[in-house]
Amino acid sequence: MKFNCPNCGQPFDGLAVQDVECPTCHCKFNPRPPHQRVSMADLKQVRIVDVTCAQCGQSFSLPELPHNLNALVAESVRSDPEARWPVEAIDLLRSFGLVGLRGCMVIAEHVTRSAGVCHCCHTPIPSSGSVVCGSCRALNLDW
Ligand SMILES: [Zn+2]
Ligand SMILES: [Zn+2]
Ligand SMILES: [Zn+2]
Repeated sequence: MKFNCPNCGQPFDGLAVQDVECPTCHCKFNPRPPHQRVSMADLKQVRIVDVTCAQCGQSFSLPELPHNLNALVAESVRSDPEARWPVEAIDLLRSFGLVGLRGCMVIAEHVTRSAGVCHCCHTPIPSSGSVVCGSCRALNLDW
């Protein structure tokens, strides 16, 4: 996303879910609306669980992110629904500093492209969160 320093107008280009410091005037600010922000303290609290997808056989580390961040990742994935590895969503996951690039790619791959629909076989799935598809057994991150 592109944004400007509220104090001096310096333009930025970045993900900025955490506070950023302006290199020109050194004020600290967060350009995102409050429901999209995260602090380092919040990220330090995040638990990471190991999950396995029975459909593709991949095991990976899944951070239990605050709901607003899951929603932000899902929104980002759905802005590029045809991509197996949506670049913006992967960059966003990377910016949290919790899992490595491969892990972020696998997470993004398993986020539902439409809420409530299996990312793999497109069967409707019953609940939201981490859901195993009853039809193809794929793990879905239905955020
Ligand atoms: Zn500034
Ligand atoms: Zn899978
Ligand atoms: Zn499925």
